[in-house]
Amino acid sequence: MEYIMTSSILVLRAQTLITLAGEGPVRGRDLFAPLKKIDNAALVVRNSIVEDALPWPKYSPPADACVCDLGSVCLAPACVNAHTHLNLSHLTDRTVWGKGFAAWLESLIPQLDESHVSPQTLNLALQDACADMAGAGTAHVGNFCGMNAVNPGPASADDACRICGLGVTHFCEWLGFDLPFNDGLYPWPTHCRTALADRELQTRSAPCGHALYSTSPQTLDSARRFCAREGKIFAFHLAESSEEDQMLTSGNGPLKDLYAECLLPKNWRAPGIRPFDYAESLNLLGPGVLAIHGVWLNAREAGRLAASGAALCLCPRSNSNLGVGAPPVHMFMENNVLLCLGTDGLASNSDLDVRGEAKFLREMLDVPPEALIRLLTVNGAAALGLENAGRLTPGSAAEFCILPASLVY
Ligand SMILES: [Zn+2]
Repeated sequence: MEYIMTSSILVLRAQTLITLAGEGPVRGRDLFAPLKKIDNAALVVRNSIVEDALPWPKYSPPADACVCDLGSVCLAPACVNAHTHLNLSHLTDRTVWGKGFAAWLESLIPQLDESHVSPQTLNLALQDACADMAGAGTAHVGNFCGMNAVNPGPASADDACRICGLGVTHFCEWLGFDLPFNDGLYPWPTHCRTALADRELQTRSAPCGHALYSTSPQTLDSARRFCAREGKIFAFHLAESSEEDQMLTSGNGPLKDLYAECLLPKNWRAPGIRPFDYAESLNLLGPGVLAIHGVWLNAREAGRLAASGAALCLCPRSNSNLGVGAPPVHMFMENNVLLCLGTDGLASNSDLDVRGEAKFLREMLDVPPEALIRLLTVNGAAALGLENAGRLTPGSAAEFCILPASLVY
């Protein structure tokens, strides 16, 4: 929403305001604790920074303030969308849904060669996706970027985010087992090296792997070590589908058959253990790690994930669309996993409004709104290593969203 500002002071009145002031990342039972609310509230903003949050009757706006009554809405801090793929934003309605992960991936892979799509089409899709996110009340996004032909790496997505005022963390992924550089230092692809060599982009970029079944263990290990040393978040897809489980455990199945044709080296051997155990054996888990999906994790694995200090990003609408199952969110909460939410990309979701993931978990899996609001805000901020996001406290950026009706309680 936009306001024509005639003053440096903006006062927003809302029926309810949830600031999450004083809250940090929340796990387990603490997720269900009541959230402090201000009814009939005023959010006072000066030069885009929160100055105060208080009951409307106690506030006397200065004469030159720009006052906007938002009516019967519940205002909350802007959301963190912890996982998407912005460079796939042109693939809306162009992949196979509902037939499992391998069928979806088989429909996606040929389209990763973008040479038949004009750069204008790709950039317009990127810009639309970012504008929609910002308009829906997202403040920061975790963006996986591959090495696509036309949009190699994060530069285009970075521009699109900045135009819309979106904060972004780029995870530069490598999909493959050939080491693009094997100079004994960093076996990462060109787009990742380029981003990390750019003085500005490097501050919001990190190397990562796509997944355990699609990225060489050497690249995963190297990226993980680099991120730990540099204080960056290391992210990868984990336990998204039964096909992943089957491929890593037995070396068979549709995902193995698909990748054998295009990605796997002839001498590839399955580790013969479940995805979580394989990730653990490669030392990929720990503080500063963001695992994505976790649909097929069991309770033992969830407990170990929580104990490691890693966070887990749930993408339930994407999982539902592909037909890979539903994340066991209640089991994760019982096991104290640090949870956050992401939309995944437009190749597997209908939009990038992460409030939709919370609505889905509220309506389909009966997760309480208090927990979901925390997942959308303070937990997403913690998972991406953002210190000051996810709260509306004096001195913080005035980034807010309107909660959907199903999250208001
Ligand atoms: Zn993804």
